[in-house]
Amino acid sequence: MKITVLSGGVGGARFLRGLRDAISPTDEVTAVVNVGDDMWLTGLRIAPDLDSIMYTLAGENDERRGWGRVGETERVSGELRAYGVGWPWFTLGDLDIGTHLTRSHLLREGLPLSEVTARIASRWPLGVRLIPATDDEVETHVVTAEATMHFQEWWTRHRASIPALSFDYRGVAESTPARGVLDAITEADAVLLAPSNPVVSIGPILAIPGIRTALAATSARVVGVSPIISGAVVRGMADACLTAIGVSTTADAVALHYGARSNGGVLDDWLVDNSDSQLTSAIEAAGIRAHVVPLWMRDPESSATLGRHALAAAVG
Ligand code: GDP
Ligand code: CA
Repeated sequence: MKITVLSGGVGGARFLRGLRDAISPTDEVTAVVNVGDDMWLTGLRIAPDLDSIMYTLAGENDERRGWGRVGETERVSGELRAYGVGWPWFTLGDLDIGTHLTRSHLLREGLPLSEVTARIASRWPLGVRLIPATDDEVETHVVTAEATMHFQEWWTRHRASIPALSFDYRGVAESTPARGVLDAITEADAVLLAPSNPVVSIGPILAIPGIRTALAATSARVVGVSPIISGAVVRGMADACLTAIGVSTTADAVALHYGARSNGGVLDDWLVDNSDSQLTSAIEAAGIRAHVVPLWMRDPESSATLGRHALAAAVG
């Protein structure tokens, strides 16, 4: 079975790790990954969502901190700060910088990001094929009353404390899906939306011209997993993002935001947490099949169970 997952960083990575544990050996998983958080910093191309997934699937992630490499040091960042370059509030780990140097080097050699990603990821047996949603530079900027800033500045520096008015996926209108992305969607037996941020992780992927059309055309069921449980985010700032686009932080509102595939949207099925069972009628009324399952990815076992539930919805 060919399974394609649209994914952001940390939430998506956990979901993919569980899914990898849930599949059978003949199944193939492709992750189409958000690049909206990417940026150039001190001459390096940083791709946080691709790297979060890669480190997590490689077992190299820092579980305790929730992001980056395990056993990381920050000596180079200290030097950059002393020279007054980069963003003082954006720490790059030394091991992580190795990844960014490699990526930047290969990009400067002229390789597209998708090939660069395949090369970098081949270091580890990830068990999941990673493709950036686009090879083009599409970066999410946040519009606030005072200024427009890169998503990383809004989130990492300001911790989403400045109200966002809107999100601008800069460059998206002129972008094209990376090689392999449209085929991964149209030829899939199951398409899954990871429980990633709907606005700054899945939103930039869906905004790339051609991707919605591929989702509309695929014969696979499109199954989404709610990142919202009991009216709250599990971690991160999706609530602040949803508020900015006028969507409530509830599992049913996010489902309606994505919309039913039968009605011009992207979803056939939507997984909500056991605690949100009262929301299913609103979801079903919108033409989306609702499934009530445990959505907390607490450990490998609960994550694998979620993967199995998503697959069951896709074949059912
Ligand atoms: P980011 O790019 O690192 O922000 O990660 P993603 O966009 O992939 O995922 C962020 C989303 O994951 C947040 O909105 C969280 O609510 C959601 N999330 C994190 N852990 C869990 C979990 O255990 N279960 C579910 N359902 N969602 C989760
Ligand atoms: Ca992200």
